[in-house]
Amino acid sequence: MPERVIIIGSGPAGWAAAIYAARAALEPLLFEGAITEENRLAGTLPLGQLALSTEVENYPGFPVGDLEAYLDSAIEKGRRSMMAPHNKEGASGPELLELMRQQAANFGTRIVTDDVTDVDFSGRPFRVTTSEGKQHEAQALIVATGARANYLGLPSEEKYKNQGVSACAVCDGALPRFRNRPLVVVGGGDSAVEESDYLSKFASVVYMVHRRDELRASKIMAKRAMDNPKIEIQWNRVVDEILGNDQDGVTGVRLNSTAGEDPLELEASGFFLSIGHTPNTAFLEGKIELTEKKYIKWTTPWRTYTSVEGVFAAGDAADDYYRQAVTAAGTGCMAALDAERWLAAKGL
Ligand SMILES: Cc1cc2nc3c(=O)[nH]c(=O)nc-3n(C[C@H](O)[C@H](O)[C@H](O)COP(=O)(O)OP(=O)(O)OC[C@H]3O[C@@H](n4cnc5c(N)ncnc54)[C@H](O)[C@@H]3O)c2cc1C
Repeated sequence: MPERVIIIGSGPAGWAAAIYAARAALEPLLFEGAITEENRLAGTLPLGQLALSTEVENYPGFPVGDLEAYLDSAIEKGRRSMMAPHNKEGASGPELLELMRQQAANFGTRIVTDDVTDVDFSGRPFRVTTSEGKQHEAQALIVATGARANYLGLPSEEKYKNQGVSACAVCDGALPRFRNRPLVVVGGGDSAVEESDYLSKFASVVYMVHRRDELRASKIMAKRAMDNPKIEIQWNRVVDEILGNDQDGVTGVRLNSTAGEDPLELEASGFFLSIGHTPNTAFLEGKIELTEKKYIKWTTPWRTYTSVEGVFAAGDAADDYYRQAVTAAGTGCMAALDAERWLAAKGL
């Protein structure tokens, strides 16, 4: 018997979809990804992007507070003992995701710790193949495979992640360590300008590091950067090394020149990447309509429909604009409701 709904992905979008689908008695089967070195290096281990973060201060319902007793009572003992000690600063990313996963499991979601590597949408039921070579069939499918932030690939970047290195200005910019301090943003597109502008509300100065002598951003956005007195653009520069130490995390940055100038060191408490994201959609190429940037294309406003009837998309895999946990969870809920209504209309 085919499944009624299969969910692929284990970030806020996948778990929200699972909670709604399970409560609608669709008995969802969810693939959360495989625990492999390849996924670790790519930043796509089960539980998704937020599990790579520490404090999450903007997910509604989790103010700063001691959640220890709640976590002890909510999370299965075996998994709880594997989690880092709670830091009394509200929910951390991993804590939030464990809670979402547990909530989905409590309502009967069956969870498979494996990657989906191939899909066959040529007929219904749809067929998915996992990295272990197993095949499963489903009447409806929700893709919530997320995206991953692009990094430069420097060892120092890896070392200071969560200690000053961040790939999400909106998520981390307001943290105390960045207040009234010099910050660095790498990138030259619209997102880099938007993130620099946002960070300038908190920082003493924002250095935008750009490899060329002209921003890639649209004219209006480039003007916004130029007009902001707190943004200083470092033209023709590339990052050589992020400077820091174990105690303080990031303390500065060393820049090389693309125009033959001497290297330059700047003091900074934060290093923000704004060089794009890669959606986790490679296994969907040619199977479903993707945008130019390889995000899944939503075909109808305010619906999670895709170009394949019966396949729904949620979260960052389809959203290159908002990219927040709460929006991912929101579209996960929408995808489950869309799938439920579609199955009902088809009598499946
Ligand atoms: C460092 C950092 C800090 C952040 N901080 C915040 C914050 O404070 N607040 C906030 O709102 N947002 C924050 N964000 C953004 C937020 O994490 C994302 O918007 C959100 O996680 C997107 O959720 P998602 O469900 O779409 O997918 P993701 O979180 O991207 O998770 C999808 C996961 O599905 C799994 N998967 C992928 N492909 C497959 C496959 N083929 N088969 C099986 N499983 C698969 C992988 O484990 C993948 O990681 C942060 C992001 C980063 C990188």
